[in-house]
Amino acid sequence: MANRIRTTQQLLAAFPHVAGGADLTSVMAKYPMAITPYYASLIRRADSSDPIFQMCVPRSQELSDPPFLMPDPLEECHDMPVPGMVHRYPDRALVIATTMCSTYCRHCTRKRIAGTRETNITKRRLEQIAAYLTEHPQISDVIVSGGDPLTMSTEHLEMVLSRLRQVPSVQIIRIGTRVPVVLPMRITDELCAMLRKYHPIWINTHFNHPQELTPESIAACNRLSDAGVPLGNQSVLLRGVNDRPQIIEQLCRALVRNRVRPYYLYQCDLVRGVEHFRTPVSRGMEIMEYLRGRLSGLAIPMFVVDAPHGGGKIPVLPNYVVSQSPTHTVLRNYEGMLIAYPEPQDRCEGHSAMPQEECSPGVWELAAGAYSRIQPEKTVRHTRRRTCCPSNETAREY
Ligand SMILES: *Cc1c(COP(=O)(O)O)cnc(C)c1O
Ligand code: SF4
Repeated sequence: MANRIRTTQQLLAAFPHVAGGADLTSVMAKYPMAITPYYASLIRRADSSDPIFQMCVPRSQELSDPPFLMPDPLEECHDMPVPGMVHRYPDRALVIATTMCSTYCRHCTRKRIAGTRETNITKRRLEQIAAYLTEHPQISDVIVSGGDPLTMSTEHLEMVLSRLRQVPSVQIIRIGTRVPVVLPMRITDELCAMLRKYHPIWINTHFNHPQELTPESIAACNRLSDAGVPLGNQSVLLRGVNDRPQIIEQLCRALVRNRVRPYYLYQCDLVRGVEHFRTPVSRGMEIMEYLRGRLSGLAIPMFVVDAPHGGGKIPVLPNYVVSQSPTHTVLRNYEGMLIAYPEPQDRCEGHSAMPQEECSPGVWELAAGAYSRIQPEKTVRHTRRRTCCPSNETAREY
């Protein structure tokens, strides 16, 4: 932490070919820079073709300011019954335990908070939050976030966790942290020993690119897993960084291999200063279409848009329901196969008109129950299947 790259001079000393200048200085005045020496060491090319470089080195585009971008697009400030605590969903609340991070992500959704001051939650504020939680026993899941809570001293973090644990209605505590990615040596045995006193503790971390899965970060994840902390990952889709299906596939495979469950894949929020990172929503759809069927379900995150105006996280996925009748739901799989799923018999109200003797297969005929599937030719799976087990279809297929 003490050796973070924080100034233009330090940045130029580490990467002499970076264009400095007035732009960089004014970006950094608005959105502070900090890069841990470890994270800086993952940069392979000191320019915008490098994903790590893009995520941590300020760019002049951060000053571009289209009108629909906001400092607080999720309107977290309106959902704060106590300063520093966001209560948006019925059973969950999010505590901003610190405004400090070891590395400031250029794509951060809390750019309005992270790094503008570096302060940790006070005892007084923590008491107010604990009082609110006690008065609202429907909140069973508290997310300790920030900033990055694992930048706090172990003692300070323990003060937060132990106070939350004293509230009987708090069942699980989650920590949102990018420390395993940007400062993995912070995951010490001492920290793990402290965390395990407050179980059930879950941690969601923030890997965005396979290049971030290094021996050090993997070892940090292993230490947490071995302390009984289930690990999830929340990635953000970032233009030019990870917005290709193959990169997300590689990332998710590597995460699962290292006991980290891909949890969310976020559409970039409408935050001021991140316009150059935004991708169209359709890119997320393409990626989800690519992943399903190709990867273990364990490795597939949920693609979500965290809606403006505090609408919360909304899952977006390709449409797999093609049609419906009272008797059948017509689904498609990733191969393009169409399948009729018959509804339970006692609830069937009958189809509007039963199909004629001779009809050609189409979606309507599937919904009517005249055909059970429409099968694309020559898929690898279909070829394999036919050769090993004869089909015993009762309804007609095509
Ligand atoms: C994301 C978020 C949560 C947690 O949502 P999950 O879908 O349960 O992971 C809770 N509160 C706020 C304010 C959030 O932004
Ligand atoms: S670690 Fe999280 S809170 Fe900190 S800058 Fe990155 S995204 Fe923002």
